[in-house]
Amino acid sequence: MHSGGTEGRESWRDSWEAAREGTVAVVDCRQEIPCNPCEEACPTGAIRVGPDICAVPRFDPRACNGCGRCVALCPGMAVFLLDRREDDGFARVTLPYEMGRRPVEGEEVQVVDGEGKALTGGKILKVRAVGGKAPTLLVTVKVPEEAALKVRGLRYRLIERDAFREADEVPSFSGYPICRCEDVSMERVKDILQAGLRSLTALRRASRVGLGYCPGMFCQSSLREELARAAGRGEKEVGAFKVRPPVRPVKLGLLGGENA
Ligand code: SF4
Ligand code: SF4
Repeated sequence: MHSGGTEGRESWRDSWEAAREGTVAVVDCRQEIPCNPCEEACPTGAIRVGPDICAVPRFDPRACNGCGRCVALCPGMAVFLLDRREDDGFARVTLPYEMGRRPVEGEEVQVVDGEGKALTGGKILKVRAVGGKAPTLLVTVKVPEEAALKVRGLRYRLIERDAFREADEVPSFSGYPICRCEDVSMERVKDILQAGLRSLTALRRASRVGLGYCPGMFCQSSLREELARAAGRGEKEVGAFKVRPPVRPVKLGLLGGENA
């Protein structure tokens, strides 16, 4: 097991270089929250959180075999795979994908950053399932190299939403959780919006969207779009979530006056 490695942007730089030789993980885990499935998932010890479960993981790309188990098991979708072997100006980025219809190899998609903003186009090269009875799909998409480290998701479902509507596939789309942390579906959000809410903050209080571990990082963009449409307002007018600091576990002894 490796105990070295780097964290944060330093580890990105190491991953970027290592990706020239093969598929390697990129760890974008910045919040000090109690979490370590990546460490348990990794068969080679390339990702280490250590005894302090709130520590940001350290990553050693030299120990990574690109298996993708950490990508599938990270609840925060904070890990992806990168491959730059082709040296053709494009990178192969592998992302977790849990919602919507199954992407199909060869299809063109839009790739988005961590806030859901469109970055560029990409082409799906490979779709594989990792896990047991409820596997996570890992989708490999070819994107221009300059976008590779910014990509965090596919806007596959959203750009085709109108097409789904025509094809009567909306019910299956609406039933999926838009806020995965609190398990709130878009269907539920739409029901709540019928009450006439006009701000994202009010929607959060009414539905619990954005109150989970990711504080709205993944759902905010889609929710603002939906809310603006329902309220007949601009996206800027409906506001934005205030990012809350993650809550760290505190020992009971500390609350009782014990010295740290
Ligand atoms: S891709 Fe596989 S080997 Fe690399 S860090 Fe993730 S689990 Fe470990
Ligand atoms: S959020 Fe993902 S990368 Fe961060 S500690 Fe948890 S499992 Fe690991």
